[in-house]
Amino acid sequence: MTKAVLALNAGSSSLKFALFRVDPTDTPASPSHRIASGEVEGIDTHPHFRAKDAGGRVLVDESWDTHAGTADPHHGPMATLMDWIGGHLGGLELMGVGHRVVHGGPDFIRPVRITPKILGDLAALTPFAPLHQPGSLAPARALLAQRPDLPQVACFDTAFHHTMPAVAQAQALPRSYADKGVRRYGFHGLSYEYIASCLRERAPHLATSRCIVAHIGSGASLCAMCEGHSIDTTMGFSVLDGLMMGTRCGHLDPGVILYMLKEEGLGAAEIETILYHRSGLLGVSGLSNDMRDLHARAAHDPAVTAALDLFVYRFVQEAGMMAASLQGLDGLVFTAGIGENDAIIRAAICGRLAWLGVRLDEAANAANNEIISTSDSRVEVRVIPTDEETTIRRHVMMCLA
Ligand code: ADP
Repeated sequence: MTKAVLALNAGSSSLKFALFRVDPTDTPASPSHRIASGEVEGIDTHPHFRAKDAGGRVLVDESWDTHAGTADPHHGPMATLMDWIGGHLGGLELMGVGHRVVHGGPDFIRPVRITPKILGDLAALTPFAPLHQPGSLAPARALLAQRPDLPQVACFDTAFHHTMPAVAQAQALPRSYADKGVRRYGFHGLSYEYIASCLRERAPHLATSRCIVAHIGSGASLCAMCEGHSIDTTMGFSVLDGLMMGTRCGHLDPGVILYMLKEEGLGAAEIETILYHRSGLLGVSGLSNDMRDLHARAAHDPAVTAALDLFVYRFVQEAGMMAASLQGLDGLVFTAGIGENDAIIRAAICGRLAWLGVRLDEAANAANNEIISTSDSRVEVRVIPTDEETTIRRHVMMCLA
């Protein structure tokens, strides 16, 4: 019988989903058949549920109020989503649900079937990702209560990086911290795994060589990929490290945090808010975390120009680090919101990577072609849209096979 897989990607107050048809002859590597996708936003305030079919036709667009005092704000939206999906399966049987889980810690290096015990183990990793882990587990917990019979699979953003050598996982802290799990993990792994699979299909010469994959959306990181495996990445212990992001600071001298603590008397929660929500493009520009707003104002506002310059400068610095980890560079892949859409930023970055052998084809870049480097560029540069939900579908199929 033809089945379906639901992929869920939960934030602290939003729940994105994609529903896939799985034909009896499909393997995890088969092309995705997306039936519908959408999201519930404002989960803890005024949930707003939107869904579209694969052709972009709006299937649902409705809001409702949360019931004050509800212990788990995900409970209602999850029940609404599952009811809606039940009504749209049209004879398909839901075989399983996959969840994007931000942190798998040192032990969860592949997808795992969710049980109450596993949920407890994953909740214990919350100190490693305090702002993201609870939100990524909440839908699984709600669904386990509502549909204990339905198989659920946790898919980890950290897992793709478990191939990093010990030296790339290490931090130069007293050894006792490594023993507590305080080390470099890396994130955006579901996206990198998808891009690695695209390279195997479309550009085998890159899949077997040294690439930097740049996932630059509202969160941003680089992955140094050698023969399709992660050997280094710019995010480390937390999602704060590495590149400058929409509202996160990226790489920061830890002395700044000591200054905030000791000289400004700020508490941990205030510093957390500054580093996660008030820094990056938003903090430096004083205007917005969205590249489209920044480009629109760049000609009129020096702070906006400074934010864009710093974004590019830091990208190029961190790319140099990844190239050093790879001991050379053959390919560069841009993906996620900025990487897939922003020809201006791509051009600025590629211009400053000429020393590594990058030569941009300006027309191809402006046209958003897949290959945007010149034919004589030593480094091949591609734009490949990411699809984390497809990685989740593959994980569910592999895990439940
Ligand atoms: P996430 O999934 O992490 O929320 P996305 O990968 O969707 O993030 O990226 C969101 C960001 O991508 C936006 O904040 C914006 O800066 C950027 N972006 C999206 N579309 C465009 C565009 N057409 N031009 C430039 N930047 C864009």
